[in-house]
Amino acid sequence: MYNDLKGKVAIITGGASGIGRATAIRYAKEGVHVVINYHSREDEANKLIDIIKALGVDALAIQADTTNKNEMEHLMNATIQHFGAFHIMVNNAGIQSDIPSHTMSIEDFDKVINVNLRGTFIGCQLALNHFMERKFKGSIINISSVHEIIPWPHYAHYSASKGGVKLMTQSLALEYARVQIRVNNIAPGSINTPINAENFKTQEDKHDADMFVPMGYVAEPDEIANVAAFLASSESKYITGQTIVADGGLSLYPSHRNFEYDELLDEFTDKI
Ligand code: NAP
Repeated sequence: MYNDLKGKVAIITGGASGIGRATAIRYAKEGVHVVINYHSREDEANKLIDIIKALGVDALAIQADTTNKNEMEHLMNATIQHFGAFHIMVNNAGIQSDIPSHTMSIEDFDKVINVNLRGTFIGCQLALNHFMERKFKGSIINISSVHEIIPWPHYAHYSASKGGVKLMTQSLALEYARVQIRVNNIAPGSINTPINAENFKTQEDKHDADMFVPMGYVAEPDEIANVAAFLASSESKYITGQTIVADGGLSLYPSHRNFEYDELLDEFTDKI
């Protein structure tokens, strides 16, 4: 538990599902009041509000498309009207699509860049202004991906967007370090969320995905929420401009693994 988080207010974009939802629940357990931004999942957002309130903190669900600055301003204003201020901004909303690059339309490319990069910038900019006006040592947490470093065929738009988030985060962190506003990334590996529904459709697909990860399993989203709690808390107050990679070793060139050695190690661990 991070005691300094108690009573703070966090906005989480794309908060009604997957990593955003898990982060909202983790923050609520830390005593953080949570604003859930949703795009189309109104029912899930409202159900989550009930879960969060049952944990003893206040919560609000607000619809906004993160690519639209006016809608994002509405999200901030509604938050400020209800809670007075906010201290933590989690830019989590993201999309992906599997398209060979030679057939990718410019519309497909723009759509992913818009949500993953432009939407993240809009969230960062609004949070920076709010924190500076109030002289808050706020924390901005962007959810990038291991594909900010690992190339991904068929996902050129996605990997470009996440690579962009990485350098944007570093640039903003340097720009606002003097006023103690921290900007960091979390780069998840393979996480069991709706964005991967297609990739983990069959038990075999899921098993293959588990086996591809050096630690032997696709993680549940609460493993990313744990990092989001750390980065929001003052325990990480000297960390800015960093990406914390949470991927079970996926970014360690897993194709260089010798699977026979894995079997030799099996006797030293409980089966996952
Ligand atoms: P998810 O459950 O599909 O979450 C994505 C969320 O983003 C959804 O709630 C979605 O809402 C929202 N969203 C999409 N476009 C939006 C927009 N224009 N405005 C507002 N919200 C929007 O998948 P997830 O895995 O939790 O993804 C969260 C983040 O983690 C994403 O940035 C993703 O790239 C990143 N990530 C995930 C993995 C993984 O393995 N799961 C790995 C690396 C990085 P609607 O459905 O209502 O549109």
